[in-house]
Amino acid sequence: MKNELIDILFKYNTDNSEDYPSENILLCLEEIRNYLELKGIHCEISIYDVAGSDGRQVRRGNLFSYNPKSRNPFLLMQGHIDTVPFSGEYSYCTEAGELVGRGSVDMKGSILSMIEAYEKMYHNEYINPPALLITGDEEANSFAGIRHFIENNNIPICFCINGEPSSFEINTAFKGVLIVEVLIKGGCLHSSDSNDVSIIEKHIDLFNDVKKFIETVRSVSDERLGRTIAAFTVVNAGNKSNQLPEQMRLSFNARIVRDSGVYLDIYNDILGKYLDKQEVCFDIMFFNPLEIDLEEKERNVLTRALNVSGFSFSETVMRAFTEASFLNQAGYRTIICGPGDLSLAHVDQKLERVDLGLLESYRDFLIEFVKEYNKK
Ligand SMILES: [Zn+2]
Repeated sequence: MKNELIDILFKYNTDNSEDYPSENILLCLEEIRNYLELKGIHCEISIYDVAGSDGRQVRRGNLFSYNPKSRNPFLLMQGHIDTVPFSGEYSYCTEAGELVGRGSVDMKGSILSMIEAYEKMYHNEYINPPALLITGDEEANSFAGIRHFIENNNIPICFCINGEPSSFEINTAFKGVLIVEVLIKGGCLHSSDSNDVSIIEKHIDLFNDVKKFIETVRSVSDERLGRTIAAFTVVNAGNKSNQLPEQMRLSFNARIVRDSGVYLDIYNDILGKYLDKQEVCFDIMFFNPLEIDLEEKERNVLTRALNVSGFSFSETVMRAFTEASFLNQAGYRTIICGPGDLSLAHVDQKLERVDLGLLESYRDFLIEFVKEYNKK
């Protein structure tokens, strides 16, 4: 793989969170655009703004490229450039044939292969030519990148490959998601001034009911999509031992396998008694699971392209929630296929790694896919 491109993608720490919105995401996309334009490739960055938790607006963008000489529906390769936050000093390297560091798996490694594949194909003539979309916000800001693309795109796209890590499996079924954020307001008092119970003590029953909700939804399953996976991920209150906490934040989520109505019934049954309490504010977000049925031609094309890179066709479920769900819901036929191992996404940045040979295979798979798709 090209060192020049590895440097462009990885020298920027593109860590993304609502707490510290980073300027680097847009800088990195601008550098990719410059790289492509020097190769005579037409490229646009479509700008939007996101707000940090302190209210500060930060400029972001999506990089979108297609050959404007063609008007036929495009084959889109798609990924996100932003990465999940980590602790410790940012670093990346290539060692023993592997690319190591934040984003190598999720998902700058895939983007590296996509750019190399795209560069090789851009000037060729195809009935359905390739296009490239790199979004700026997937790991934070409620998928602002792909939402912005969907709202503004008017270029026809017939099929899309999202490069999230799938170990070359073809994901055609996507679990949905249900996320609940709870904010509880208390009074900010000295703990020796008052014998008032704190909001922590007062809401231990709520903790137990969240646990009950999670345990109940874990028993919901579906034949194709498998089991519901649920977790209680945030409890945040207080920071001084002699002060009652002013507020408490809880968050829990589920990767859902049935229509959200099934989960909302359980939610109302178990947590309904808290919903009209003045000091407790619940914010719930959900997205239904999705499945696509591959057409015979699509299945054959994917099989042949995988075979050329030494892989066989295997159709599986994506357990993480990704931009592929937004694309499919908006009517863009999207599968996930990427080179990385999903269990190495969101881990310690020194453990996040992908074999450079797999990135080469992925690049070759993408080129072969476009070639095969365009065969009569
Ligand atoms: Zn990702």
